Amino acid sequence: MHVRITHIDGKLPNLALMAISGIHRSRGDSVHFTRDVDRGLFEDDYDRVYGSCIFRFSQHRLQRFVRNFPNAIVGGTGVQPPNLIGMDGTSSATSITVESAVGVPETLDYSIYPGFSASLGFTQRGCRLSCRFCVVPQKEGKNRSAKSIAEIWRGLGHPKKLHLLDNDFFGQPRDNWRERIREIREGGFRVCLNQGINVRLINDEAAEALSSIEYRDDQFRKRTLYTAWDNLHDEAIFFRGIDRLNRAGIPSGHVMAYMLIGFDPAETWDRIWHRFHRMVEREIRPYPMVYDRSRIDLLCFQRWVIRGLYRRVPWNEYRRATKSAESLAAWERAAKTAA
Ligand code: SF4
Repeated sequence: MHVRITHIDGKLPNLALMAISGIHRSRGDSVHFTRDVDRGLFEDDYDRVYGSCIFRFSQHRLQRFVRNFPNAIVGGTGVQPPNLIGMDGTSSATSITVESAVGVPETLDYSIYPGFSASLGFTQRGCRLSCRFCVVPQKEGKNRSAKSIAEIWRGLGHPKKLHLLDNDFFGQPRDNWRERIREIREGGFRVCLNQGINVRLINDEAAEALSSIEYRDDQFRKRTLYTAWDNLHDEAIFFRGIDRLNRAGIPSGHVMAYMLIGFDPAETWDRIWHRFHRMVEREIRPYPMVYDRSRIDLLCFQRWVIRGLYRRVPWNEYRRATKSAESLAAWERAAKTAA
């Protein structure tokens, strides 16, 4: 069998695609892996085509992919079946799980991401909370443990770097997360928890456990602990969690906090600025996540923050220069050169 595996979006290697590739290779099938959603001029025909889309804002790429490969099997958190329109105007692609598409995966095929040296996986699935904008509770269900560190690590000969995709590490049974922390610490692993730890539910024991491990950013360089402050109403509980981290020896400067913007219809710029300034004054690094991608003002704000321009270019100046989407790239290039 000749299969095409298509990584539609996302910076990180895609676990589901690695599993699909692993299954096909174990059967002796030939696998063509690509990030290209278009069919190449001289590209082969395939017995089966897969695609994974994880972000809602990648719908244009997803639609293009489905137009090019109308019989593709498509999955991922960014897939909204009613929006999948095939070439004939009908919804012809299917959205299913890895297991229902190809069976239960036994090995992950890391070879499709040759530049990635870390090990990737989940120690738990599910989440204790149910935020209105989030698909995790619906997709993953109840909180439960998944794999041990020994099962996730690729083993001897591979760097001791773990990329854990857990959405609620401390939501799994206490004995299990304590065991995972012990494995990480005693194994000398560096770990990136970039889905974020749930700071709203953190207690002193969990904060101390975090402070005992080598948490890192997604490049495994900078000390970074990811979390989120999505809703203004969570201000008190968010900072109570931050205070707990601080008391356990984790400085606020290690914390990067996702901040959802453009979701709440009652949101105002005053509210956005309030969250932003409160974090910056505590030395937390904000990371805006824009829900409504049609809001150019929010997209500009996101770039201004993520790229650290807020430390040297006043917002009004940046916004004036980026009034049109077209000028955004040019302005950023100029700002970068000036920096
Ligand atoms: S805490 Fe995170 S994973 Fe859990 S429901 Fe909210 S956004 Fe989703």
